[in-house]
Amino acid sequence: MDRRVIGVETEFGLAHRPSSGRGLPPDELARYLFRPVVEYGRSSNIFIPNGSRLYLDVGSHPEYATAECADLMDLLAADRAGEQMMHELAVEAERRIAADGFDGQVYLLKNNVDSAGNSYGSHENYLIPRTTHFRRLSGILLPFLVTRQILVGAGRVVPATEDREAHYAFSQRADHMWEGISSATTRSRPIVNTRDEPHADAAHHRRLHVIVGDSSMSSTTSLLRYGSTDLVLRMVESGVPIGDFELENPIGAIRHVSHDITGKATVRIRGGEEMTAVQLQRGLLQRAKRFVAEHGAHHEHVDRVLELWERTCEAVETGDHGLIDQDIDWAIKKRLVEDVAAKHGIGWDHPRLEQIDMAYHDVHPQRGLFHLLARRGRVSSVIDDDAVTHAMITPPATRAALRGEFLSTARAYGAEHTVDWVHHKLTDRPLDTIMLKDPFAHQDERIEALLDTLGDRSSQLQEQSLRQRRAQGVPLALTEKYHLTAPVHAEPPLI
Ligand code: ATP
Ligand code: MG
Ligand code: MG
Repeated sequence: MDRRVIGVETEFGLAHRPSSGRGLPPDELARYLFRPVVEYGRSSNIFIPNGSRLYLDVGSHPEYATAECADLMDLLAADRAGEQMMHELAVEAERRIAADGFDGQVYLLKNNVDSAGNSYGSHENYLIPRTTHFRRLSGILLPFLVTRQILVGAGRVVPATEDREAHYAFSQRADHMWEGISSATTRSRPIVNTRDEPHADAAHHRRLHVIVGDSSMSSTTSLLRYGSTDLVLRMVESGVPIGDFELENPIGAIRHVSHDITGKATVRIRGGEEMTAVQLQRGLLQRAKRFVAEHGAHHEHVDRVLELWERTCEAVETGDHGLIDQDIDWAIKKRLVEDVAAKHGIGWDHPRLEQIDMAYHDVHPQRGLFHLLARRGRVSSVIDDDAVTHAMITPPATRAALRGEFLSTARAYGAEHTVDWVHHKLTDRPLDTIMLKDPFAHQDERIEALLDTLGDRSSQLQEQSLRQRRAQGVPLALTEKYHLTAPVHAEPPLI
């Protein structure tokens, strides 16, 4: 596919730390966090005018699912926009908790494991043609995903256990995957979920649901994560020979690879051959480069993706992690943790290092250590803050643009409505429910006609109110509505 929509769902870790004693229980804290959302949308599961979905499941990990994006930079901006909104919700929760007579700070972490060892997800969704041969897809995709952690893992300080010393691993999610491919998400935690909900025309498309990834803090890491996966999918879809990398034991391999930061751990290919994760990734990278040389680059960031892919393989292979310690999350965090360990003369088993691991993922722009490094110019970025602010209120130019227009217009007219990824309904016109099955289509006369039934949306009025309505899109609007400003916390004296 030349064009593909991609969406990413992020579940966040949440904690409340009072100055003394225990914090609020997770479910209560999550309810505090989502109160403004419920006030705004009368539900803890809502779509908002930038086309994304905010959701609080029965567990207590709030989720942000970006709108479907057809451009990688839109996706990176949408992902960061979600992070920023969640941060604003956390600030407001802290304020409300204080108003209710409790003290303490609310921590929102964009990571994938909490201190109790629970894991939560960062799911990727890729539109793929229904004709894709699933056996061929999984034969290539699984080995790619099992070893992709050496490129885009978030890194993890692993405490000592009875049979293993404390150490640093590539990935947080690797230890929490139990199956290669399956249709269940929660119980068995597969790498790829095959539940067939295309949110598109099922005759032509599937939605590939990748469950295995670590959340990314660095936008450069995100670019490599989605960009390389998209290239692998393109190769599979085009039918070019890619070679046989099918793994004998994907779940054994994913853990084995994660825990050997030297990159020397080998995985066994079905049929006997052993290779390291780097060798496998290099094999796919060579094919991807050849593919791009023959078919041309399908977007303007392809060269950057290939360059990052290559440089990261080299860094792992040579052990020279300095090659990527501004670009790739696991390497950025490893350097940070090592700097602290050296400064304080402590080893991998020191609990302080686990705290730093967590603090790296704190979405708080002043408190979070990734953001601190960014302010100090120690990490690279491929998107700027303006793009993120824009993405908080503006949907990408896909079907999401229609969803956004529908939501903000219905709201401006006070009309009861419901939407999901595909459906658009005004409650008092149930027979006029509009289905948008084409995720790329950002214009649709039926939507316009339905919105016209709400009243005069003509020129002046519409133009003028559009900006206002956009500015009302939650939860950015929460900032205005509740006059939030993030409290400035002192920078932690860690580095
Ligand atoms: P749940 O979280 O309730 O288990 P889910 O994981 O199936 O459901 P959502 O959390 O609603 O789904 O997120 C769907 C994601 O898929 C969003 O990021 C969205 O942008 C993306 N998406 C929507 N339609 C498509 C499509 N046709 N192809 C690829 N991605 C899509
Ligand atoms: Mg989801
Ligand atoms: Mg999901």
